[in-house]
Amino acid sequence: MIGAGRLVGASGAQDNAAAATKAAATTRPNNLATRGAVFDASMETRMSEEVLPPDATDARESTSGSRAAPGSLYVVATPLGNARDLDILRTVDVIAAEDTRMTLPLLRRYGIGTKAVSLHAHNETRRAASLIAALADKKSVAIVSDAGTPAISDPGARLVRAAHDAGHTVVPIPGPSAVAAAVSAAGLDAERFVFVGFLPPKAKTRRELLASVAPLPFALVIYEAPHRVRDTITELANVLGGRTLFVARELTKVFETLTRMPLDDAPAWFDADSNRTRGELVLIVDAPALAEESSLALAQEAERWLTELVRELPPARAARVVANITGVARDDLYARAIALKRQQQAD
Ligand code: SAM
Repeated sequence: MIGAGRLVGASGAQDNAAAATKAAATTRPNNLATRGAVFDASMETRMSEEVLPPDATDARESTSGSRAAPGSLYVVATPLGNARDLDILRTVDVIAAEDTRMTLPLLRRYGIGTKAVSLHAHNETRRAASLIAALADKKSVAIVSDAGTPAISDPGARLVRAAHDAGHTVVPIPGPSAVAAAVSAAGLDAERFVFVGFLPPKAKTRRELLASVAPLPFALVIYEAPHRVRDTITELANVLGGRTLFVARELTKVFETLTRMPLDDAPAWFDADSNRTRGELVLIVDAPALAEESSLALAQEAERWLTELVRELPPARAARVVANITGVARDDLYARAIALKRQQQAD
């Protein structure tokens, strides 16, 4: 499924070139030349810096200086479209890549000669054993996926868990992820979102999952492959109609398309131009409009309970009781309970 998405995405970009004029109304081409120039300049500066004392062994210190520490597993986000800081990949002993054919050109581009081995959905368990042995042997290892952050709808989580279990240091190198990029550009009404990721391929399981998330007062972030997106849109409109859809397509690439629309209009929007179903897509269904009102009512109810209970109970206990009654997050209530207690003491 992942590979298919990539292939269709690539051919989609070519088809898009032919249809560029047609799609211009909804497509915002990136200024890739500018992005590239900025990146290259900063890379040059960073690469020329001597970054680390040679005896540094703490993995996090080492990360800030972009030099790998022995026995550490690095979880490295790779660019969604444009390259960025990948210096750690220079100094680890081995890179475990989802698809070495995708990663090698990136490494070559930055003159990184580190050995790469594959780590994908079908060999992760077996490969994890040899990589854990390498960590035990004081080698450093990095995981990358084809694009974005490993272990987010991509391989990596099993190796990371195995590294934790074996007592090795695990260091995230944060970077691009389609979920964060799409949410950041969506202008959501919702304050919170649920990362749904890819919907299950089986119709029944997909329907059950959608039914379980539909009542939540949160935005829903869905990854989708081009060959399934049109059917998914119909299903989303059926189950979540009335809400707003945000489409983030081909993020950071030449045919980046970002648009918000009523979910009920989305089937016609996709049908109007076949290029809109091509490439890589994140779909975000914003929270139901009612959520704001109901969460306001809930917040008012929680405030009433909390105000009374902090007179009698310590803030932590009051917050726990009110969280149980109302379902409002305990951390939020705890912060408010402390403020109320202070206020009451001052009165
Ligand atoms: N690990 C990646 C991440 O951190 O976002 C996700 C990998 S997952 C196999 C691929 C899916 O991520 C695509 O089908 C699409 O939903 C989303 N995606 C990845 N790159 C994207 C891009 N440039 N624009 C929009 N969506 C993208």
